[in-house]
Formats: sequence, structure tokens, C-alpha cells
Amino acid sequence: QHHLVEHYTFDNFVEGKSNQLALAAARQVAENPGDSYNPLFLYGGVGLGKTHLMHAVGNALIMHKPEAKVVYLHSERFVADMVKALQLNAISDFKRYYRSVDALLIDDIQFFAKKDRSQEEFFHTFNALLEGGQQMILTCDRYPKEIDGLEERLKSRFGWGLTVAVEPPELETRVAILMNKASQARIDLPPDAAFFIAQKIRSNVRELEGALKRVIASANFTGKSIDVDLIRESLKDLLALQDKQVSLDNIQRTVAEYYKIKVADLMSRRRSRSVARPRQMAMAMAKELTNHSLPEIGDSFGGRDHTTVLHACRKIKELRETNSDIREDYKNLLRSLTT
Ligand code: ADP
Ligand code: MG
Repeated sequence: QHHLVEHYTFDNFVEGKSNQLALAAARQVAENPGDSYNPLFLYGGVGLGKTHLMHAVGNALIMHKPEAKVVYLHSERFVADMVKALQLNAISDFKRYYRSVDALLIDDIQFFAKKDRSQEEFFHTFNALLEGGQQMILTCDRYPKEIDGLEERLKSRFGWGLTVAVEPPELETRVAILMNKASQARIDLPPDAAFFIAQKIRSNVRELEGALKRVIASANFTGKSIDVDLIRESLKDLLALQDKQVSLDNIQRTVAEYYKIKVADLMSRRRSRSVARPRQMAMAMAKELTNHSLPEIGDSFGGRDHTTVLHACRKIKELRETNSDIREDYKNLLRSLTT
């Protein structure tokens, strides 16, 4: 009924700098639902643990209070259910159902974009739940204010509780996650092997899990124990692909680190110089170092237009000629991305 995934718990969520705030907020909500942060809004790129955390709260709520009505659903499902209710003339049942929950967890709300009727329904549900002190947790792949095609009144309400970014995990956290997953699977993963995988797979936790699964499968299949050689062999295609091309992820992460800002800032609409310049730099790097098209690059920076990318490339080219700081930054970044 509630669609909670049982094994997404706090116990097996590995804490790191990148998810610390989100984890703390989720824990707080699990302890004081409807009270502390309502809604709790988690945002960040794919495979970073948003869905996991949201289920962890749900599972904790049910553990404390087994009769609690905790409902998890993907926003597409909310839309589909609503459309069905409309067709069956059952919209009042639909409303009653969602308003009767103790906690409502809606995943990937970016899919509400441009679905006006769903937004309308959700708006009223949202208000009713907030008024009733019922907890809501929402996730999204970007900062709520940056979802095109989402009503302003929803955007503003999403910020009434607490909005927290989930960032890509840094190296140490990636190692810890791998060790944790291996030990759950009762697999002996030597630290240097974990380190090797974590260095190679930098994009997100889902990819990391996928790589580990392949390594484990190949260890089982060949009867060999897990070491760097086995990893090289079993992830050969993945590693070859990586060597050929610097990934957009990698560029964004490296540039963000270099300028000491967040990856989420690069995706954001913020226009202050401290963010806009690094963003342009990252776009120029992406054009220079990858085979991605301008629209693809724009897309990966929070859904921007290809003309924005083009402008960024020109701007950086011009600045490299006139501004020695930018010239230096460009050189440093290029070096750290290609060696
Ligand atoms: P998102 O919803 O942000 O796209 P998910 O929650 O689906 O990401 O996470 C992708 C996978 O990575 C899941 O299997 C999840 O259990 C795992 N995962 C993500 N972050 C962590 C973490 N910090 N510790 C353990 N597992 C994690
Ligand atoms: Mg998710």
C-alpha cells in the first residue's frame, strides 16, 4: 500500500560531507514528523541517495508507529492516479485518500512541470497536509525555483520547510559506500580495491553500485578474489570509455572544487559573478574536452539553452586573452582534467 522499499534505511545509508545536511534533516523529520521541517525538500542529481533517504524516513516512521499511514509515490504516479480519478469521476476519493495520510513522500517532483491540473490538485493537497501537521517529503533533480513550468505558488511553498542539496560524494565517501555495500553482500573487498573503483567511478552512487556488482559477479564467475587486476578486467569497457572522454560530471565537480562552490551552484540560476564565471568556465571546458553537443551541455547545467553555452565559450575565450587570472584558471583546470 505504501510502496516503501524496506532496505532503504538509515542503517545502510553511508554518511559523508556531501549528504550530511540531508541526512541530519531526514533524521530530524523521522523523529519529529510534521513538526520540524515541513516539507523537507531534497534536491540534487541522479543516483545521489535522495530516494533512499526519503524511504529511510518512511521506514523509521513506520517502525516507531506501525499503524502510521506513510505513502510514497513517484510524482508521475501521482499524475497518473489523478488522471484516472478524473476519468472515473472519483476525484473526491482521490483527494480524501491523499489528505488522510500521516506522511506523504513524493519523489522527483520535476515531473509536475507543465502538468497544470496536477499542480492544482497537489497545491490543495499540500495546503491541507501542512495545515493538518502531516509530514511531506519531496525530492527533485534541481533547486525548486529552477523548475520551468512549475507554478510560482508551489515553488514558494516548497521552500516553507527546509530545502537541502545532496551533493555528489567525495572520494572518501565513495570508498566508504563501496566497503559498506561489499560487507552487506558479505564480500571481501580489500581497501585498495575499493579505492581503485572509487577513483575511477566518480559520477554517482548508483554507478558505483553497478560497478561493484559487476566486479562481484566476475569474482564469483572466475573464482578469483577481488583485486585491482580483476577490477580492471571486469570494468574494462567502462574504464576505456572514461579514459577516452572526460565526463560532464567530472568537469562540473572539478570546476566546483576549484572555485570552492557547490556543483548545485553550477546548475542553479544564480547570476552572481562568484557562480556565473565558474559556470561559464565549466561550460567552456565541456565544449573543449567532450564530444557533447551544445544543447547536451546546456542540459547538463540545469537545463540551459545552447545559446547560453555558446555565449559562455565565447566569453571565456575572450577573457583568456584579456585577463591573466582567467588564463591561469583555464590552464590549471585543463591540466587537472586531462592528467
Ligand atoms: P536518487 O534518488 O538521488 O537518484 P537513489 O536514492 O536512488 O538516488 O540512490 C541510488 C542508489 O545508491 C541506491 O541504491 C541507494 O541505496 C544508493 N545510495 C545512494 N547514496 C547512498 C549512501 N550515502 N549510502 C549508501 N547507499 C547509497
Ligand atoms: Mg530518486
